[in-house]
Amino acid sequence: MDVVEKINCPECGATDNLCKLRFDEFLALEFSDMGYGAVHNLTVAAYMLQHSSKMSLEGWLYERDLLREFIVEKKSPSLIRQQVKDSMDSGKRTFKFKSKDGKPVISKSTWTKTILDVRAENAEVYCADVTAWASLCWRRVKSWKFEIWFSKQMRK
Ligand SMILES: [Zn+2]
Repeated sequence: MDVVEKINCPECGATDNLCKLRFDEFLALEFSDMGYGAVHNLTVAAYMLQHSSKMSLEGWLYERDLLREFIVEKKSPSLIRQQVKDSMDSGKRTFKFKSKDGKPVISKSTWTKTILDVRAENAEVYCADVTAWASLCWRRVKSWKFEIWFSKQMRK
């Protein structure tokens, strides 16, 4: 069988499941070019919030906090980047990011933008699009009562 079934991502809804591929491409770009790398933490935060089955609850909350700091507290991507680096270096982070069971932290949602909406022809456009995507992501998740959803799952 060489017919590849094309299905949309069950989590972010991206066409043909292209989100993971695009995410890997963008990370490579961010690591090779500082102009693109400026928004690295926003790319990761927005992607991970939309793919919560990859995350532990603590990891998901951590990424949501990063977006809050960026959008509500208006911290610059470079400041957030430095903060993340400091907390990694000092070993302050005690939880695991990765999901142990692959169960989504949040229930299914529809998103207005996914990583496929980010254009990458130059760093300026890229940073603007990642920012727009991350902002929409924050607006979607900020008021979620997912804690309630989560605790219901735990009691099952
Ligand atoms: Zn996806």
